[in-house]
Amino acid sequence: MDTPLVGRRTPLHMPINRHVHLSSALVCSQRLLLHTESYMMPDQAQSSEAAVPNSNPFPSPYGVPHLDADAAKIAVRTYMNQQGYEVYERRSKKTKTGVVQKIWLCCAHGRTYGEANNRTYLAEESRLRQTSSHRLDCPWSAVLKRAEGNDTVWSATLEKDQHNHDRSEDLSAYASVRKLTAAHRETIRQMSKAGSLPRVILASLRQQDPTTIIMAQDIYNAKKAMRAEDLGGRHPIEVLLDELQEQDIQHDLQRSSTGHITHLFFVPKKPVALAHEFPYVILADCTYKTNKFKMPLLHVVGMTSTNQSFSICFVFMSGETQADYEWALLRVKTMYGDTLPLVVVTDRELALMNAISQTFPSIINLLCTWHIEKDVLAKTKKHFTTKEEFDHFFTQW
Ligand SMILES: [Zn+2]
Repeated sequence: MDTPLVGRRTPLHMPINRHVHLSSALVCSQRLLLHTESYMMPDQAQSSEAAVPNSNPFPSPYGVPHLDADAAKIAVRTYMNQQGYEVYERRSKKTKTGVVQKIWLCCAHGRTYGEANNRTYLAEESRLRQTSSHRLDCPWSAVLKRAEGNDTVWSATLEKDQHNHDRSEDLSAYASVRKLTAAHRETIRQMSKAGSLPRVILASLRQQDPTTIIMAQDIYNAKKAMRAEDLGGRHPIEVLLDELQEQDIQHDLQRSSTGHITHLFFVPKKPVALAHEFPYVILADCTYKTNKFKMPLLHVVGMTSTNQSFSICFVFMSGETQADYEWALLRVKTMYGDTLPLVVVTDRELALMNAISQTFPSIINLLCTWHIEKDVLAKTKKHFTTKEEFDHFFTQW
């Protein structure tokens, strides 16, 4: 099917232009102009103009010399992006010494949805097509070739100017068009370090460059890649243990018979001094949904004489049995040494309360009024018909 829009200047060109990487397009067009001046013979220019009807505001990349293979590829790609098509490298031909001589380009919808994807060797009719696949066997193709007798100059030739699909109104569907630049990556890295959420990072990138078509998924992918880079092939837990060791942070861990870490106790440096300064009252409670392993996190909090709270230590536990709590509390006790806390405030978690009476026999265990009120609210509200009645009861309680 011939594409009806190529070769005509239509208003449809407008939204496409907006999505093209303007910086790369500019560099490429400048390069092209430079080379057109230095290499192009007048008769060559004539023939290329005649061969490809050009409605594109960018110069045609075909039949003109390019600086190198990359410049030729960028020129063809930018030119095609302008028309609403994305281009991939299909294959290349190298000499025996490994020097690339020829590169075949295809449409992003080129190649068949064929054998290469069928890793489970299912019969064609029982295979479900991967919905994200772009492969439509589009016939469009171009060739980049090293100029004969010249080692560096490359030329591009259009082999088949035909697509079997419509041009794309929105090139952001192609991941290759949304490729992040080094500057984008740096912004993502810095903002992630500062704790910014991906949507905030995306808003910032769009503010810096309104033409960008980066999507939230690109930021998630970039963050994942950066994390893998930072981990340097190590497992996240190995990195955590290395950091605890390197930064001399007081910690302790327990492993299962299979070597998995079941409990991890650690005390950030600053709170140790504060905990010894104000050992009188501590609060202990578990929080959830803090990690992908679904391990509850026991958080021990201290109170200063000015009623300010501070985190003392954290314990990841594989379960919430009395034995789990006892393991954790023994480490807390060791941390305190001789001056033990006098009062511990908890919610009515029986396993924790039993563990406290075992490890801190002399401590006074108070129940947290906030938790009590929350339970009173949950259990009694249904017995009142009006809000006023309930509010009256709750203030009296
Ligand atoms: Zn195509």
